[in-house]
Amino acid sequence: MSTESCIFCQIVAGNAPADVLHRDELVVAFRDIRQAAPTHILIVPARHVRSLMDLRPGDDGLLGHMFAVAQELAVQEKMGTRGYRVVVNTGPDGGQTVFHLHLHLLGGRRMHWPPG
Ligand code: AMP
Repeated sequence: MSTESCIFCQIVAGNAPADVLHRDELVVAFRDIRQAAPTHILIVPARHVRSLMDLRPGDDGLLGHMFAVAQELAVQEKMGTRGYRVVVNTGPDGGQTVFHLHLHLLGGRRMHWPPG
């Protein structure tokens, strides 16, 4: 998929609407359009990375930063004490539907295990 047809690239570029909560040179975070929990935020790299399988050597900093932003937003959303879940669906069997790497940050209710 080209970056022009990638909805998350369009959001990163500011060319598609989104409820953006965080933006820096490496990542953008915005609310999921279909809220699966009272808080449901997506954290995406600014660069188009198709999935977890497409990270390159040297991307450790990017991945670490994505989790740091998840922690920051979890505190901002008052989930720091009770907890939350971070999910990375990867590939068709992993349930990935948008092929631009993203962390789902979910919270505000008790999560169940195993997931569906
Ligand atoms: P996944 O199934 O893990 O690939 O997750 C993709 C997520 O992106 C889903 O939870 C969708 O609801 C969400 N999504 C798709 N399009 C948009 C959009 N334009 N703005 C915000 N979230 C979106």
